[in-house]
Amino acid sequence: MISLHGLTKEFPGGVRAVDGLDLAIADGEFFALLGPSGCGKTTLLRTIAGLEAPTSGRVVIGDADVTALPPGRRDVAMVFQDYALFPHMDVTANIAYPLRVKKVPRAEREAKAAETAARLSLSELLARRPAQLSGGQQQRVALARAIACHPAVFLFDEPLSNLDARMRLEARTFLKRLQRELAVTTVFVTHDQGEALAMADRIAVMSAGRIMQVGTPSEVFQRPANTFVASFIGSTPMNLLPGVAEDDGLHVAGAVLPPAPGVAGGEEIVYGLRPEYMDLADAARKDAFAGQVSVVENLGTSFLVTLEVTSPSGDHLVQAVVPEDAEPPPGARAWAVPRHPRALV
Ligand code: ADP
Ligand code: MG
Repeated sequence: MISLHGLTKEFPGGVRAVDGLDLAIADGEFFALLGPSGCGKTTLLRTIAGLEAPTSGRVVIGDADVTALPPGRRDVAMVFQDYALFPHMDVTANIAYPLRVKKVPRAEREAKAAETAARLSLSELLARRPAQLSGGQQQRVALARAIACHPAVFLFDEPLSNLDARMRLEARTFLKRLQRELAVTTVFVTHDQGEALAMADRIAVMSAGRIMQVGTPSEVFQRPANTFVASFIGSTPMNLLPGVAEDDGLHVAGAVLPPAPGVAGGEEIVYGLRPEYMDLADAARKDAFAGQVSVVENLGTSFLVTLEVTSPSGDHLVQAVVPEDAEPPPGARAWAVPRHPRALV
């Protein structure tokens, strides 16, 4: 397992890329670090790898405090965003490189490289150089290099981000299966919330060097800890609407919704609901957001409908995902009704 204690990395000029971070990652876990570009994911991963020295705090891997150890003595393998393959070496030599550094005899490391290559369907490509490989093949060579020396921890920095959309989906499934088989503790950095939800056992959502929430994919999706997580997670952004909790219910964008436990007496609230948990009604009702359809987007098997809602509290955009054939035409009046148990206040 990996634990981080009060970890801070400040760069010259005062940028705190990682800001007093505490985290515990379990043995064998597939753990995603998720956040927007610039939030400190790569810096955090490099600090775990030993490629950056923290300004303060500690990194513990297994039973050992490795904060002062160089990368080569941490028993971790990192796969970089650009794969960082050696252009002048063939596939075998690239995969075997870490074993060569560890002074494993030539015959043994070549056998090991061939065995790992076979596992990743690279056997036909052993004599090629990186420039003679597709992006997906290069990515598998980078993975093979990480796997070949049986590290205790894999560190992946956006390893799928240079693949096209289709390859990315295939690589996602492949990588997840591989991690299950090898059962090696894995820290996976991504800015893609869909990737994190699909692959990880648990996710840490980061913003500006700090952790906003740690949880399973369903926890961060269903019960985001704050509006940052709520708007970052999900393939369509969550509706986040200002409102007031009165004793007769929640007054939100012209609708009066059932009261929520713990809020009343005129307290200001933010009402959060995913577009997937909204239905369209064909007539006005008290618990609906009434508006005019401004945009209808085809999502394949469903439609994303954006309503312009004019209410006493101001103008708001409310989005609903509706089944195909239930989508209203642009310009129509429509009423979006929340499915209440899913709403967050
Ligand atoms: P992410 O991987 O989430 O996109 P990074 O860890 O690369 O974020 O960067 C986090 C912050 O630290 C950014 O503001 C970035 O500009 C800054 N940063 C990263 N590396 C350096 C560096 N070597 N020197 C100075 N600032 C850096
Ligand atoms: Mg990065």
